[in-house]
Amino acid sequence: MARKSDTEGGDDAGTAVRLVLLGRPGAGKGTQSARLARHFEIPHVSTGEILRAAVRDETDVGARARRYMESGELLPDDVVVAIVADRLAADSDVIGGFLLDGFPRTVAQAEALLEVTAPRGVDLVIDLDVPTDVVLGRLAGRRVCERCGADFPQSAGGPTPSDRCPRCGAEVAARGDDTDVTIARRLDVYESQTAPVAAWFAERDLLVKVDGIGDPDEVTARLLRTVERRRQERDTDR
Ligand code: AMP
Repeated sequence: MARKSDTEGGDDAGTAVRLVLLGRPGAGKGTQSARLARHFEIPHVSTGEILRAAVRDETDVGARARRYMESGELLPDDVVVAIVADRLAADSDVIGGFLLDGFPRTVAQAEALLEVTAPRGVDLVIDLDVPTDVVLGRLAGRRVCERCGADFPQSAGGPTPSDRCPRCGAEVAARGDDTDVTIARRLDVYESQTAPVAAWFAERDLLVKVDGIGDPDEVTARLLRTVERRRQERDTDR
């Protein structure tokens, strides 16, 4: 496992974890990442969220991202790597840890991530495992806030489309890329481009698979146990 340089950062950098969450669209990465990031007090970096905010704010990156996102395709690696590198440079000097959600999605992005985060690299990559038939049902019910981007799985008692976002009061609706055609394409892209990323991290002894089926609280507990185990191994390695 990649080790932290002892000279890097302060005490926080020594204890904060560097995590990556992989998984099919609809596996629950957004919900679980937010919880893990809160628990470990690390920044939650979601490339999908950053890109949706860029589209809402009508920035240049947003204008470019929109057509890829609407068709369920991945943005070019260099664009996404630059976004993540900027964000980590801004955060990791201070905190040391981070949780990446939705990145890396290609092997080229994974290679770039280990370069950007060298020498310590990442501590653990979690493959949140939910089979295709289950994610299809979840994606159909998912609603997001059009203003703040908060994500509400309908099955977990989230708002219906006519409801307002409990956080900011704006309207909630299905995500623009949660249509049948785009969902099918995103799942294909996952199998062809992102599943090999899990294998790539497994070869580097960084991957653990966690069952993402069940009550969200149970899944969170599973994830926390997995990360804590890895942290203990890291501490005994030192
Ligand atoms: P997500 O919210 O993670 O499902 O991402 C939504 C969409 O944003 C994806 O379908 C892609 O079009 C784009 N996207 C997000 N992350 C990446 C990434 N790491 N590489 C390329 N495209 C991405």
